[in-house]
Amino acid sequence: MTGVIEHARAVVVGGGVAGASVAYHLAALGWGDVVLLERRSLTCGTTWHAAGLVGRLRGSRTASRLVQYSAELYARLPEETGHATGWRRCGSLIVARTQERLAQLGRSVAVGRAVGIDAHIVGPAVVARLWPLCRTDDLTGAMVVPDDGRVIPADVTQALAAGARARGVRIREGVAVTGVRARQGAVAGVATSAGDIACEVVVNCAGMWARALGQTSGVPVPLWPVEHFYAVTRPIVGVTPDLAVLRDLDGCVYVREEVGGLLFGGFEPVAKPWIDPIPDDFAFSLLKEDPEQFEVLARGALERIPALESAEVQLLLDGPESFTPDGNFILGEAPGLRGYFVAAGFNSGGIASGGGAGRALAEWIVNGAAPMDLTAYDPRRFLPRHAEPAYLVARMREVPGVHYAIAWPNREPETGRDMLRSPLHERLAARGACFGVKMGWERVNWLAPAGASPRTEYTFGRQNWLPHVAHEHRAARERAALFDQTSFGKLQLEGPDAGTLLDRLAANDVAVPVGRTVYTPFLNARGGYESDLTISRVGPETWFLVTGSAQRVRDADWIRRHAGGLRATLTDVTEAWATLGLMGPRARDVLARVSAAPLDNEAFPFGAVRDVVVAGVAVRAIRLSYVGELGWELYVPAPRAGEVWDALTAAGEVLPAGYYALDSLRIEKGYRAWGRELTPDDTPWQAGLGFTVKLAKPDFVGRSALMAQRERGVSRRLLLFALDDTRAVAWGDEPIYRDGRLVGTLTSAAYGHTLGRGVAMGYVESEPGVPAETWLGGRYEIDVAGERVPASVSLRAWHDPTGERLRA
Ligand SMILES: Cc1cc2nc3c(=O)[nH]c(=O)nc-3n(C[C@H](O)[C@H](O)[C@H](O)COP(=O)(O)OP(=O)(O)OC[C@H]3O[C@@H](n4cnc5c(N)ncnc54)[C@H](O)[C@@H]3O)c2cc1C
Repeated sequence: MTGVIEHARAVVVGGGVAGASVAYHLAALGWGDVVLLERRSLTCGTTWHAAGLVGRLRGSRTASRLVQYSAELYARLPEETGHATGWRRCGSLIVARTQERLAQLGRSVAVGRAVGIDAHIVGPAVVARLWPLCRTDDLTGAMVVPDDGRVIPADVTQALAAGARARGVRIREGVAVTGVRARQGAVAGVATSAGDIACEVVVNCAGMWARALGQTSGVPVPLWPVEHFYAVTRPIVGVTPDLAVLRDLDGCVYVREEVGGLLFGGFEPVAKPWIDPIPDDFAFSLLKEDPEQFEVLARGALERIPALESAEVQLLLDGPESFTPDGNFILGEAPGLRGYFVAAGFNSGGIASGGGAGRALAEWIVNGAAPMDLTAYDPRRFLPRHAEPAYLVARMREVPGVHYAIAWPNREPETGRDMLRSPLHERLAARGACFGVKMGWERVNWLAPAGASPRTEYTFGRQNWLPHVAHEHRAARERAALFDQTSFGKLQLEGPDAGTLLDRLAANDVAVPVGRTVYTPFLNARGGYESDLTISRVGPETWFLVTGSAQRVRDADWIRRHAGGLRATLTDVTEAWATLGLMGPRARDVLARVSAAPLDNEAFPFGAVRDVVVAGVAVRAIRLSYVGELGWELYVPAPRAGEVWDALTAAGEVLPAGYYALDSLRIEKGYRAWGRELTPDDTPWQAGLGFTVKLAKPDFVGRSALMAQRERGVSRRLLLFALDDTRAVAWGDEPIYRDGRLVGTLTSAAYGHTLGRGVAMGYVESEPGVPAETWLGGRYEIDVAGERVPASVSLRAWHDPTGERLRA
């Protein structure tokens, strides 16, 4: 059938909602020369049996925006294409059984406000009026989202396909892609069951088959199918089509009208991954019903809708849906193979997110860069080992349930742990470490003193670790704290052109003498942060790059992408080195007890890198700090890390500390974090990090965008906040008000133990080009779970604004 198709600009693999949306949007952006290949029939994978809920309030602003767009699209597609989508603006009603759940809903309302989503809290009496069949005597309240709705997923997909066809996309059913051909690290074509097609872009939208398809090209796509259920009843008196979709998250269920009856499904706290191989003929197929697994959902639904007791269930549906390790879908260009894009792993939100995700990916493909901050979905947030079956199966038991669980701040996964352990792990565990996970690494969040349990007790208020972290925080400010930062990404770049390559990517001046370290952004063409990292020149042609734990794959990919024909070799050496951060005013004295190296300001100034011997071990030491105190990062060959750790902890005055202390220290000091204050949407001018940009350099990626923005002036600026009410607990995505008007959202928050109050950072909007002081005018308040808390504001760090302590 494809015999006649020999070439296309892009081949989209998979005819579910994701593939249809990507094809539709590519064509809408002018790429008509697109082929969509579907191994069987459009919608035959997971899409055909989805419940079709489109709920706008998601876990983040970006996610909410993507669904906002989907809803608008599904409402207008019928007129544009002549195909119905079944869009019905019935609204959502999300009920709370506990005060904690109500607090979470209150926070969601506040976040929704920041992206223009209308939502409000109501009492049980209003729930009873809106949903007469709903039991309300055990509710603490509910959230109403009037603009939410539902669709018929197969119809949405057919409408998108029709819209794509009308703009020239060729859709072929019954054609399977068997592999992707690559040439010199870039996509060159696809092999199909009906012959080869040459193309420059391939988009893997193969749903639960996406992992296996990616594997054939060495592209990790970490997703796994999980059995996912709903039941449908025969008509029930009192059920009308305009009933809002009811979600009882504490009961793990959603309920909506279906042909006069009710459709109810949900997310079991312990899910059931589908471990059998997917049969070749799996199309419009379902899995074998499992009433036992469904029981928890049935119970939840019965508790909420007593009328279900006497209803007749006509269908119990068990269909596979792909989930990912972190519950976010996978969207973007894969590292290591140019032109290979992925849109898959939708975690039971593919219908809601499909429209927005398809548009975002199409813009990325057509413009050669992500249109906005999509890092939460980026394939580069994973390591290849995240795609291993044993890990995925373990993780999948937990991921779906988290969807409806209370979104506790600092919630850590229970499954899929211990992928990567620091060589110091056992020592830290013996000292009462409570570990969290970042990019596969087990990392110390905080340490429990003798007699206390190293387990975080989740709450939106003050969590149980606060006094212990206060102790760690004070150790760093007053004496010395020792952090295990082994999870840092570490890259070595060497070769005659290594300096030229870094000069092209770094906004700061990295042409420094051997022995110097530079903190620099890597920017995209919009001038936004692709990364921020430190670059140490350790030899005439050798650079040692240290980046955040989460940035390891993306930074390596960014560097390789820009290497062109330059003679430079990049090696990821993350696991080869342990990192010990010795931080605090006594750090020099402590280090001097275990090292003969000269450590005074002349011999070892701030920003210097030296090879020194510590406790008999050859160590690379960099004089830097992420906490705002005198300190050194010690890079120790991993097998010998224990010796250095033991010597330092035995040297006196040193307290081991974890990442929660690091966070409160860095926020007090106004240090920005990648992924929070620094994202692809934020520029150094907006972030207040202009000192890291050297416009005098003739060129670097992002320079012209920065020049233009400097000319115009910024209309968003990062400000530092301190909460005036010392009891208020902010977590980092609360709305910011100035003189009663919503002007922005927090990016990070913590309790500042040196200041004795909550500290935070966040971007606020204003007129372009106004002087910095103007941003500080007005009365600022932070909306903490619906309560406006007055806040002091500053452009400079609350702690040691002149940086004297760093250079002490
Ligand atoms: C019970 C249930 C209820 C759900 N309810 C909702 C809901 O209310 N709201 C919501 O937003 N989401 C919901 N979902 C999730 C939603 O259905 C999915 O996220 C979405 O359908 C995924 O779409 P997709 O295009 O990624 O995958 P699919 O629909 O599976 O499409 C992938 C396609 O790729 C094809 N393919 C695979 N390999 C190849 C190949 N090599 N060559 C060619 N073609 C190939 C397959 O045949 C398939 O058609 C639900 C899911 C389930 C199971």
